[in-house]
Amino acid sequence: MESYITIIGGGLAGTEAAYQIAKRGIQVKLYEMKPKVFSPAHSDANLAEIVCSNSFKSNLHTNACGLLKEELRKLDSLLIRIADETAVPAGQALAVDRKQFSKRVTEELEKMENIQIIRKEVGKQDIRKPTQGYTQIEEMAKEGIVIIATGPLTSDSLSKEIIKLTGEDKLYFYDAAAPIIEKESVNMEIAFWGERYEQERRKEETIEDWQKRIEKQNQASYLNLPMNEEEYEKFWTELVNAQIVTLHDFEKRELFEGCMPIEIMAKRGKDTLRFGPLKPVGFTDKRTGRRPYAVVQLRQDNKEGNLFNMVGFQTNLKFGEQQRVFQMIPGLEQANFVKFGVMHRNTYLHSTKLLEPTGRLKQNSNLYFAGQITGVEGYVESICSGMVAALNAQKQLKEKNKLQNPIIFPKTTMIGALMDYISTSNENFQPMNANFGILPPLTQTIKDKKLKYTKLADRALADLEEMLQIDDK
Ligand SMILES: Cc1cc2nc3c(=O)[nH]c(=O)nc-3n(C[C@H](O)[C@H](O)[C@H](O)COP(=O)(O)OP(=O)(O)OC[C@H]3O[C@@H](n4cnc5c(N)ncnc54)[C@H](O)[C@@H]3O)c2cc1C
Repeated sequence: MESYITIIGGGLAGTEAAYQIAKRGIQVKLYEMKPKVFSPAHSDANLAEIVCSNSFKSNLHTNACGLLKEELRKLDSLLIRIADETAVPAGQALAVDRKQFSKRVTEELEKMENIQIIRKEVGKQDIRKPTQGYTQIEEMAKEGIVIIATGPLTSDSLSKEIIKLTGEDKLYFYDAAAPIIEKESVNMEIAFWGERYEQERRKEETIEDWQKRIEKQNQASYLNLPMNEEEYEKFWTELVNAQIVTLHDFEKRELFEGCMPIEIMAKRGKDTLRFGPLKPVGFTDKRTGRRPYAVVQLRQDNKEGNLFNMVGFQTNLKFGEQQRVFQMIPGLEQANFVKFGVMHRNTYLHSTKLLEPTGRLKQNSNLYFAGQITGVEGYVESICSGMVAALNAQKQLKEKNKLQNPIIFPKTTMIGALMDYISTSNENFQPMNANFGILPPLTQTIKDKKLKYTKLADRALADLEEMLQIDDK
């Protein structure tokens, strides 16, 4: 067994992983296909390229991504350090000078003696010739530990290898995710539980009794938000005029075939939504006792029942616009969006089935995955996943290839909660970004959102500190 670790992909996860391993005295071979081959969204020869927005989101601990960054700072994350050093003014957010950021990360890794950067596309035949029945990555994993961190736009050649290796049907998805909302932030004076026609089937009960019973039994999977004509018209006008994200050409070509954004559907006519996802039939508005003009439905999104997605609301609106326009829906005035809707091409594993919380592949103990390909979503989340895979991979190498005590972060930390989320069985798995909804709840109920998040963040940082102290002993 070789004494180096191979990393494939020099993006956000791969470079963080390379640094964490190399600084612990282990040799790293880092494969990056740029500048020979560029994905449709990459264009810079440097490593750790920021492909879209230059924001690493909020720095506040009362923001989930702010907490995640703070946890990563405590673990000496190279990328968060360089993000801090190359920050540009952005209020409470951490936004970076993207060119400087990638340049600095590249220079830092090039400086490290035990990192060898190899500019080649893995998956192409010139790297390792697979023997009968094995993929190239399995051949590489026979020689030592390999971390695959090739991101949402993993090259076709490698995607084919990963499909063969994991037995998955496909790895490409067109993420057309609707926003996800914390249930606690929905106004239950307006929202009501129930499925279409359910109320009509139960005419013998008053609406109030029916509501109470459903809520108590937690039977219905939908929360409904009724709109009257005036509310609907105002909402529709803002929706069709809202600002949208500019798509890459490859996304424009391939995206809309199966899944139409809500704003595009709305542009087809004022009533299109009322005959589609916002159909009001089969419901009674408890504010008026009459059928509403339109109904927005929220569907339960996680087992705990604290997160709900907006049914049919896959969208390309800018995040700020989603917040502004969707908060016009009665009952969502104070909605807390743990995830905004997105539509872009993505490559990710069915990680809840395939991966351990360390990022290691269950079926091959020498193969790890890191970054967005594991089903985490976002720059900082990808860095986090690179950190976790690296810490475990280097430990495995030092423990003579046996990972007896894997490094698993407490679920109360944002790092631990994310890794737990992507590796816990979930039929409806969708990529996940940092949010307070995935942390275990506090023992006491706190209504004030800011106070609640402060307490969750304090608990996370204290638990991480305790873990690091135990590890130091
Ligand atoms: C179009 C688009 C826009 C996005 N916008 C945002 C955003 O605004 N904010 C946000 O937080 N997140 C965004 N994301 C999501 C995600 O956070 C980023 O893509 C992030 O860079 C993922 O990190 P990563 O390390 O997993 O992959 P990447 O940073 O993409 O790194 C993967 C690296 O692997 C290399 N590679 C691929 N295949 C091979 C191969 N076969 N051999 C060798 N090298 C290979 C690539 O060239 C690349 O350098 C966006 C994603 C996409 C696709």
